Amino acid sequence: MKSEMSPELPPASPLVSSPGPAGDGRRMSRRSFLLAGAGGLAALSAGVLPKAPGPVAWQEAGGVHRALPEALLPSACGECPAGCELLLRKVGDWVVGVRPIEPKPCLRAYTLPQQLVHPDRIRVPMARDGGRGGDRWTALGAEEAEERLASWLEEARGRVAVLVSEDGELASRAWMRLGAALAAPHVAWEDWVHGDGPVDAFQEATGWARWTPDLAEAAGVLAFGFDFLQALMPPVRTQEALKQWQERKIRPEVVTVGPRLDLSSMRADEWLPCRVGREPLVALAMAAMLVKNKGWHPSAARLPGFDALVAGLGRFDIPGACEQAGVQVGAVARLVEYLADRRWLCLGPRRRLADQRPVALLNALLGRVGEQGGWLPEPELRWKSGAHRPGPAEAVPAAIAGGQIDLLLVYRANPAFATPEPARWRKALQHVRRLVVFTDVYQETARLADLVLPVAPPAERRARFVSVDGGQVRVREVAPVMPAPAECPDPLDLALRVARRLAPKLASPMPTDAEALVAELEVAPAAARPFTFSVPEWTAPSYSAGRFHLLLETPLALLRMTGGHLPYLISAVGPHLRQWWETTVEINPETARELGVADRQLVKLSSEVGTIHARAKLYAGVPPDAVCVPLGLGHTLGAFAGKVGGNPAELVKWAAEAERPLWTQTKVNVEAL
Ligand code: SF4
Repeated sequence: MKSEMSPELPPASPLVSSPGPAGDGRRMSRRSFLLAGAGGLAALSAGVLPKAPGPVAWQEAGGVHRALPEALLPSACGECPAGCELLLRKVGDWVVGVRPIEPKPCLRAYTLPQQLVHPDRIRVPMARDGGRGGDRWTALGAEEAEERLASWLEEARGRVAVLVSEDGELASRAWMRLGAALAAPHVAWEDWVHGDGPVDAFQEATGWARWTPDLAEAAGVLAFGFDFLQALMPPVRTQEALKQWQERKIRPEVVTVGPRLDLSSMRADEWLPCRVGREPLVALAMAAMLVKNKGWHPSAARLPGFDALVAGLGRFDIPGACEQAGVQVGAVARLVEYLADRRWLCLGPRRRLADQRPVALLNALLGRVGEQGGWLPEPELRWKSGAHRPGPAEAVPAAIAGGQIDLLLVYRANPAFATPEPARWRKALQHVRRLVVFTDVYQETARLADLVLPVAPPAERRARFVSVDGGQVRVREVAPVMPAPAECPDPLDLALRVARRLAPKLASPMPTDAEALVAELEVAPAAARPFTFSVPEWTAPSYSAGRFHLLLETPLALLRMTGGHLPYLISAVGPHLRQWWETTVEINPETARELGVADRQLVKLSSEVGTIHARAKLYAGVPPDAVCVPLGLGHTLGAFAGKVGGNPAELVKWAAEAERPLWTQTKVNVEAL
C-alpha cells in the first residue's frame, strides 16, 4: 500500500486506509473523531444508523443503544511512569469514557478514548518508501516488520543506540535490555529535566542520584523558579499531595520566587518576583541569612563540611546578592524567619549544577534532606546483571556524527521535536544508516525513520507496569479492553521474540520470556551518604545573543512535550490566558507598547539558532525583559497538531559543554508581523 501526502495539509497518519476502532477500514474525519472522543455515544449512533433518522427512529436508536453491552473495565494510563490505574467505560465495541479511581489520575488520562480513535495513530508497521522526511510509506505485516528489524539489529550489533521514553512499562525496559545485550554503545532514557528537582546537586553532596520531594508531608513549600504544580513528575503524586493538604487542618504555605507569575505562583500564598535567572542568588542569600541568624536545624550542624560552610557563608554579600536579584533584603529576611521556624521544603528546577546547589544547600540547612516532609532518596529499579546502565541521551547525535552508530532505535520518544535545538537531532537522524521508531502517533522522528512500528495504548494490549513497592519489584498487569489492530505487534512480545531470534548472536544473554525478564530486575535500596556541605560559588549564566530572555512554560497538559495531537489537551494549555490551539508568547504590556505589538498579533521570535511565529498575549506577569512560550505545541505534522504555531524548542540554543539539556540560557528578539 502506498500513499503520498497532500502538500497543503499537515500530514496526519500517513497510510490512506486508517481503520476505525472496529478495524473496518473506515477513514475518520476530524468531526467524527471529535464526536467519538468527546462522548462516544453520538459517534456510536452514527455508526449504528445508516442515515439521519426522524423522531420516531431516534427512539429506536435509543433502544439500540440500550441493547448494547456496557461495562467498566480496569485499565491504565501509559503516559508517564506512574501508570495510573483507572476504569474505562466501554459501550459495545467502543471505549467512550474514563472513570477515575483513587489515586485519581491527572487530566492526561481522560484523553484515552481520543487516543484510541485518533487519525494520527499508527496502526500497522510502515517501511519508508522514498527519501527521508517525505511521507511515502509501505505498510508491512507484523511478521515482515519483525524479520526486518531482527536482521537490521543483527547486522548493526555493537553499533546500535537505543533511546527510550520512560513510561513505567516492562516493554520499554525490554528494549533497553536488548540494547545492552547487543552491546549498544548508547542506551538512554529520554532526557526530560523539567520534571526533576536539583537532583544533580544532591548526587554531588550525597552520592545518590534519585530524589523525590515529600510534598504531601511538607510543612510549607518555597519554590525557586520552579512551576512545580505543572512540572513536577509524576503529576499524580503532586495532585495527591494537594489533596492531602486540603484534608489537613493547617494547609502548608507556599511561596514562590521567580521572574514570572506562573501557575504555581498564582496558587501560592506569596510570590516574590526576582530578575530572570537570579533565583539561585536569592536562595544563597537566604542560606547566608540562616547561617547569620544561627537559624539552621540542629541536624545540619552534624553534617560534614558544616563549619567551613558557616565560615564561607559568613562572608557572603547578602545586600549585593539581593540587589543583583532585584529583591528587597527585608522581604528575604521575612521569608527566612518563616523558613527557620517551619522548616519548609525548598524546590528548584534541574538547571546548571551551580543553580541547583543553593537549593540543595538550603534543604540541608533546614534538615530537609532524607527527612519526612523533605527530599527523600528513592530506590532504583535496575537489572541484577548490571547489564543496563543508561547513559546521557544527548550523547547520541555526536555518536552518530562520529560514525559510531549504524542503527538508532527510538521507543516512544520524539527527539526531532522535544529537545533543545532539535535541528541537531534531525541532522543526526538524517545521517544515521537506519532509524527504527516505535510510536503511537505519526510524529517528527517517525517521519525520518526507515521503519515505524506501532505501539497500541495499554487499553488494547496486555500491558505490564513495573515499579518499586515496599522495597520490592512490583509488576502490575493490565488486560486489554479491546483488540489491537491486526498487524500491531505487542511491543514486549516483539522485544522478547527478537531477543530469541538473535540469542546466538547477542554479546551477552538476555531473558526471552516476560517472567524471566522480571526476575532479572532488582531494587537497589537508596544508598545516600550524609549530605556533605561545600561553599557554593555562583556565577551568572551566559546567555545567547538577543534582547529578551526566553522563558519556557511546561504545561501539565503537554507533559514532556507530548499530547499536542489531542484536542482535549491543546485546549487545556495556559488557562490563565486562554492560550488555546496556537503557540502563544506572553509579552509584558510595556514591552509590547514599545515594540508596537497588539494583543493577539502574530510576532516573529528569533534566536541565534532558530525562528518561529507565535501569537502575542499581553501579560503583566512576565517581566519586561523576557517573553514566555509554552512547550509542546508547534508540531510540523498531524491532523490537529500540525500548523498550530511554532515549536519554541527550535529557539533554544544547545549548550555543547552541558551533559544534560539546558533550556534556560537563550535570548530572543521579537518582531511584529
Ligand atoms: S500521572 Fe497522569 S500522565 Fe502519568 S500515568 Fe497518571 S494519568 Fe497518566
